[in-house]
Formats: sequence, structure tokens, C-alpha cells
Amino acid sequence: MARPAAIAIDFGGTNLRAALVTAEGAILHRVNTPTRVEEGVQPVIDRLVNLAEQVISASGAGPEVPVGVVAPGPLDPDEGVIYFGPNLPGWRNVPLRAILAERLGRRIVIGNDGNGAALGEAIFGAARGCRHLIHLMIGTGLGSGIISHGQLIEGYRGLGAEVGHLPVDPYGPRCHCGGAGCLEAYVSGWALARDGEALAHSGRSEAIRRAAAGGPVTAEMVTEAAQAGDEAARSVFESAGRALAVGLAGLVNVFNPEMIVIGGGVARAGDLLLEPLRRWLRYYAITYIVDTVRVLPSALGDDAGVYGAAARAFLVSGGPFAGTVRLG
Ligand SMILES: [Zn+2]
Repeated sequence: MARPAAIAIDFGGTNLRAALVTAEGAILHRVNTPTRVEEGVQPVIDRLVNLAEQVISASGAGPEVPVGVVAPGPLDPDEGVIYFGPNLPGWRNVPLRAILAERLGRRIVIGNDGNGAALGEAIFGAARGCRHLIHLMIGTGLGSGIISHGQLIEGYRGLGAEVGHLPVDPYGPRCHCGGAGCLEAYVSGWALARDGEALAHSGRSEAIRRAAAGGPVTAEMVTEAAQAGDEAARSVFESAGRALAVGLAGLVNVFNPEMIVIGGGVARAGDLLLEPLRRWLRYYAITYIVDTVRVLPSALGDDAGVYGAAARAFLVSGGPFAGTVRLG
């Protein structure tokens, strides 16, 4: 293949996506399918292999083309093992890299989806060229990645940087990770749905109750009610934005980032979340440090995972971006 490219696989809790991504950022031969995580580990692995094979076959990618995978963590990027997924029932100590390498007959590079999205944003997205970045991906859960001095911060065993599980309240609710008071328990699809459910049940939001029509409340219903002006739904975003500011203010004071970029499905709420976040961030963080921080929406949208998987594959293979962002 003449120009540098990578096969990118995004293993998300809701969708699996695969594509060939060029060094210029073009996404080719894209294929998607629902994850259907409830069917168990083996069917999901079979679907991942099938998607990768479709992309390899359609693109004619030779064995020299690197394969990158992003997956929900906690995930050990050196061993390629998913230890467990707070939102992936049944996934315990799955050696996904070894399984995919054997089934596809190729070398596989694997990393946490939150770290991948940070790499993708720093190489292909809103933070291109940024060496001091905090990136959040707010979907079902809250994934994240931190780049400081051009180095992705993954820690001793590669299990960081889980900003979603940064405790922000000593008396806070239980979190899916087993902890309590985590940022994700305030700012995530599941936290917004829980808060919306409470509003619908207590009769404080007629708009959410009507949208749910007796079924479960989703984060999208809360977002749409807030966008339509429902005061109770707007208060959910005010609280979420404030909790997010508490967590990010701590990180701003510690890391002095240049940019905070926010992506993921919940981030589609836009200023509903970003406006209270920016306002409260100035309240909690040290003025001289927060003054220079830019808070921006992601430029990659639903492709953050695909770009992240490609970015990691390029970086590990010593490809065209060697020397931009460093891995551990
Ligand atoms: Zn947690």
C-alpha cells in the first residue's frame, strides 16, 4: 500500500465500528454493527473479527498495515487484557489482543477507549498539535485521557487516567466501578438517565415522563426535554456541569492543561453542559491557571474511537506521527 494507513477497530458498549484510516485522516471502507453486549463475550469477539476481516478484504491492506483497537477499560495495553468493564457484563480478564492476533493473523495494538479518544483528538481533531490536553468522552460512562508535555498519561500498569472515577463527593452515590462519589456517577449517560427517572417519578418533569411513556428514561430524553425548555431537565445539566467543574478544576490545578475537549453522545447537549461547566470551572479552579484553558467540543464525534484506534496503531508502529504524542 503506497500511503500510510491503519486498520482501526472501535469496540464500544453500543456499537462496533471498523475502518481503514489514512494518515491524512480519511476514513475508508467503514463497517458498523451493534455490539449486543448482552449476548456474551464470544459473539462480540466473533463480530469484531468479522468486521476487521471485511475491512482487510475491501481495502486489500497487506500484513504491514498496523491494526489498532480501542476498547472499554480498565484495560492493560501492554498485556492486551480487558480486566473488566463496568458497562460490559461478563467481561473479566479477557485477553482480547491475543485472541484477535490469533484470529486475524496480525499484530494488534490495543488501548483504552478514553485514552484512544485523547490520542485521536490530539492527532486528527480539535486538539491537533496540543501537548497539554484533558479529553473527556461522555457516553454511557465517562471515558478520559490526559496528555501532559506530549506524553499520554497511562500510569504504572497502563490503567490510567480514569477521570470518570475521580471521586468528587465523599458522600456521593455508588458508582458502577465499585467506588462511590465518582465523577461518572454525576456526569454520564447512566447518571443523567437516573436523575431523569427521579424527575419523571416525582412528577417534577412532565416532559420526561411523557417521553418515557412508562418505559425507562434515557439521557437523550433528558437532553431533549432540557432543549425544549423544561426547567427540571435543565437543572440536571446545571448539576452535571457543576460536578464536572469540580473534578476538572482539580485536574486543571494539577496539570495546567492548554485545552479541555469534550466528546461522546452526552456532549451533543452542547452548551446545556458546557455553559455551566465553563462558569463553575472558573469558580473552583485557580484563576491564574484556568484563565488560559480552552474548553471545546470534540471535532471527531462518533468517529473518536476509530480515530483513536488508528492513532495508537500509527504511534506504536513508528508511523507518520512518531514524535508528536508519546505513549508510555
Ligand atoms: Zn467509579
